[in-house]
Amino acid sequence: MNFSTVANLSYLVSAALFIFGLKRLQSPATARSGNFLAAIGMTIAIIVTLLETNFANWQMILVGGIVGALIGSVSARAVQMTAMPQMVGIFNGFGGGASALVAISEFLRLLRHGDVMTNDAGISIVLGTLIGGVTFSGSMIAFAKLQNLMTGAPVTWPLQKILNSLLVAAILALGAYLVFFDQTNVLVFLVIVGLSLVLGVTSVTPIGGADMPVVISLLNSYSGLAAAAAGFVVDNNVLIIAGSLVGASGLILTNIMCVGMNRSLANVLFGAVGTADVVAGSVGAGAAEGIVRDVSAEEAGMILAYANSVIFVPGYGMAVAQAQHAVRELSDVLKERGVDVKYAVHPVAGRMPGHMNVLLAEANVPYDDLYSMDDINHAFPNTTVAVVIGANDVVNPAARHDTTSPLYGMPILNVDEAEHIIVLKRSMRPGFAGVDNELFVHPKTMMLFGDAKDSVQKLVTEAKGA
Ligand code: NAP
Repeated sequence: MNFSTVANLSYLVSAALFIFGLKRLQSPATARSGNFLAAIGMTIAIIVTLLETNFANWQMILVGGIVGALIGSVSARAVQMTAMPQMVGIFNGFGGGASALVAISEFLRLLRHGDVMTNDAGISIVLGTLIGGVTFSGSMIAFAKLQNLMTGAPVTWPLQKILNSLLVAAILALGAYLVFFDQTNVLVFLVIVGLSLVLGVTSVTPIGGADMPVVISLLNSYSGLAAAAAGFVVDNNVLIIAGSLVGASGLILTNIMCVGMNRSLANVLFGAVGTADVVAGSVGAGAAEGIVRDVSAEEAGMILAYANSVIFVPGYGMAVAQAQHAVRELSDVLKERGVDVKYAVHPVAGRMPGHMNVLLAEANVPYDDLYSMDDINHAFPNTTVAVVIGANDVVNPAARHDTTSPLYGMPILNVDEAEHIIVLKRSMRPGFAGVDNELFVHPKTMMLFGDAKDSVQKLVTEAKGA
């Protein structure tokens, strides 16, 4: 068996580990081991690639690997869960940028060696540069919007879609010219690089910060395609497979978010939905019309302590307040009193898919207590208290009946069907979508105002003493 066969068999093992790893990401219970399996697959792929290239330039690779691993592990540990979308965004961008750099360096290598660029190689180089460039600059804009380094509001201008279409057409036309007629034209290649970067900026700037998680997921998919294109450029099978897996899973995730919000991808990309205020997370001052009923922590604690069943509905505010540990403590206290406790997790609660699952898992909430929207919605009518912890849009009944609401059609958690509703938030301000929530003035609703962590801690004390 020659080395190339051994290398390809090892790549097959890597690919299988990636797929098993992805499969295990489906549940919080197996997600860690899934990540670990995929990491083993990646380690095998890196070692075999190094062997295949006879450890060429290994010193540079070692330095790059160490610096990258340090930055990656330090930032992954330091990042706040609420800032996770922008971290994923910027790392995606670097992935796309790396793929573009691979394509660019292959173009320069062919040029330096005076080799003829075959059509296949040329197409891969142009596509890798285009997709990688768009991913890099688009992700930087997404990062800047979420990090409040620029306005989160959709920035639109006249003829914007036409301009973007013209940019795509120009890049493809120049790419075709380069590949088929003038393979050594550096200026044309540089223009392709520049226009690809511009396209990333002009495509993402018009999208509101509220939709950035979807954009980041889509750019994640692009970064996978860019990596696959880079795999064709350097003729590396595992890069093609890994890139395709990222491309496909990014698309699936994008679709899950769009379905969760009941919006089309076209509406997200071209709808210019949202305002800067909404991005910052409920800065508006509106309130649905009706009577707001406050409840004290003392009274709410008593209601919970004597309930038969309680469903906790976590949302973005729980992440902001870092209230997950206190919530787990409260559920322990209630369970000890014989209360049936469940958690209802909406697919787009928080700011990224799985946001709530990760937080609750961090607080050691048993996985069996977590229920997805479809599995729990039928249970609300038989529930004594639904406790909404920093969730807003995902429990807004307007989504069911108000055709004028931007949330109309979005599937929601039917908390208004519970016997009693207790909502924990700091004010009457709206959530991510910037719309008022009639749930807060529902006759069954009691508002417990304050930071979610403080409020839940008070509820723990009250429920313990009841
Ligand atoms: P939300 O609608 O954004 O509402 C969060 C609520 O938390 C706010 O109303 C805020 O009210 C409250 N809050 C903030 N800080 C708090 C604190 N320290 N203590 C207590 N409450 C606090 O959240 P959601 O119901 O989770 O909905 C998620 C939204 O994000 C949806 O519109 C969804 O479409 C969108 N989105 C999600 C994803 C995803 O993948 N998860 C992707 C794209 C878009 P106060 O300011 O009054 O406290």
